[in-house]
Amino acid sequence: MIPFNKPFIIGPELDYIRQAVMSGKISGDGLYTKQCQLFFESRYHFKKTLLTTSCTDALEMAAILLDIEDGDEVIVPSFTFVSTANAFVLRGAKIVFADSEDFSPNIDIDRLEPLITDRTRAIVPVHYAGIACNMGPLLDLAKRHSFSVVEDAAQAVDSYYRGKPLGSLGALSAFSFHETKNIISGEGGMLVVNDDRHVQRAEIIREKGTNRSSFFRGEVDKYGWVDIGSSFLPSEIIAAFLYAQLEHLDAIQTKRKRLWDLYFEHLTPLAGCGHIRLPYIPEYATNNAHMFYILCDNITERSALIAHLRKHDIMAVFHYLPLQKSPFYKDKHDGRELPNADRYSNCLLRLPLYYELHEKDVESVSEAISIFFKTRRKTM
Ligand SMILES: *Cc1c(COP(=O)(O)O)cnc(C)c1O
Repeated sequence: MIPFNKPFIIGPELDYIRQAVMSGKISGDGLYTKQCQLFFESRYHFKKTLLTTSCTDALEMAAILLDIEDGDEVIVPSFTFVSTANAFVLRGAKIVFADSEDFSPNIDIDRLEPLITDRTRAIVPVHYAGIACNMGPLLDLAKRHSFSVVEDAAQAVDSYYRGKPLGSLGALSAFSFHETKNIISGEGGMLVVNDDRHVQRAEIIREKGTNRSSFFRGEVDKYGWVDIGSSFLPSEIIAAFLYAQLEHLDAIQTKRKRLWDLYFEHLTPLAGCGHIRLPYIPEYATNNAHMFYILCDNITERSALIAHLRKHDIMAVFHYLPLQKSPFYKDKHDGRELPNADRYSNCLLRLPLYYELHEKDVESVSEAISIFFKTRRKTM
């Protein structure tokens, strides 16, 4: 059986967890948390990083930091994970859903302007599959209309926009280390603070609304309740696992990219015949091999392909039912059609891609897909 995803251990994870436990401190903000944060700050020049228990938590922190309140509008792509929107809904925001591009599932920057009003407080671009949104024009738009940009970089570790690391472009950015991402810690995430004005308050919000972080640095003699907040920090057990993965980030990325390239190579003939479409990477973006997806013609064909692959013991999955049509949001949506988001929701199929996947597995999956289209053509 070839599963869709498989959590993996790269090396010293369990040793580091043991060391964390033996050190006598397994709550948050110990040595491993600091090492993880230092890793990101030095490698990608992020101004300030704070590990969180999930990307969802980092997005919730972003919404609190921006003082989002009742009636504020936040523009979010329709084709994304629920947390991108929900973090802002929790603060009372009205979500204005934006459509995807014609050639990729990313938010279509060229069609954003009509969605902006004087209540627009933030836009949350999602770098889908780790491939950058067109950030230059988006940042210009943000400056012109003075709203904030929060990057949902959940899938975007070690990926770039015109040479700049994703996560470094918005005022705030959120990463995920969920077991389905490139670098994992089971559950886990990180808030990146690129705007100086948010640095101190981010620490407070993450520590239950207290100034405990300044206290531990000796900047204040007592710590107390100074703001709203919650418990957003992970334990050292999670940080220890994560640090082991970060030390091997390059090896993980090299392996994933090799598997991704192999899929691309094996499936190019099918794309050439017009049976499927393959991911498109614009000249301004890099590929961090977070995901390999194909696009089928329609939902019927995709369902048949999923069933066919399952018969070959291959688990392929689709995702993201359009958020504006969800039971929770359908009555709150303004009624606009978002045809590209619908199309990706109906046609996109994710293939197995994980660190321990073998090259021969990529060949088997590609072969099974080819067989599907060969036999399907005959029966049609
Ligand atoms: C995975 C993911 C999230 C959620 O990450 P968690 O760490 O599970 O909270 C949010 N947004 C996107 C685009 C994701 O892919």
